[in-house]
Amino acid sequence: MVKRDRREYSRAYMAKYRKENPDKVKYWRNKSNQASNAYWKRKVVELYSNGTMQCARCRFGDIRALSIDHINGRTKEDREIRDSNPRAYYKRVIQENNKAKYQVLCMNCQWIKRHEKKEYNHYYTQGINKEG
Ligand SMILES: [Zn+2]
Repeated sequence: MVKRDRREYSRAYMAKYRKENPDKVKYWRNKSNQASNAYWKRKVVELYSNGTMQCARCRFGDIRALSIDHINGRTKEDREIRDSNPRAYYKRVIQENNKAKYQVLCMNCQWIKRHEKKEYNHYYTQGINKEG
């Protein structure tokens, strides 16, 4: 078997497998997306927390509740960027490597900061902050 035949064979095999096992393919795609998102989230938190893996304000350290905060709020340009998935966003933020722009905050501190700074722009705070 020459190399090219083998590649043809495995491509055909994979196509057949995907067709016959859509659930499995979907499952593994989700799995690997989740793993990949988690990997890049860890990377971005590591970078912007200077390796502490903690919230910049309260030092909360559970990565599940940590996220990247725009220190001075989102600019119009920031809001116009549409990353296709979480890891695309994380990679972009890592590439920017701008510690004057981003920091790591836990969700509590994110919400508190939004109230303090009246950052009402983010879609899921709309309507909520109006009362608070
Ligand atoms: Zn915090």
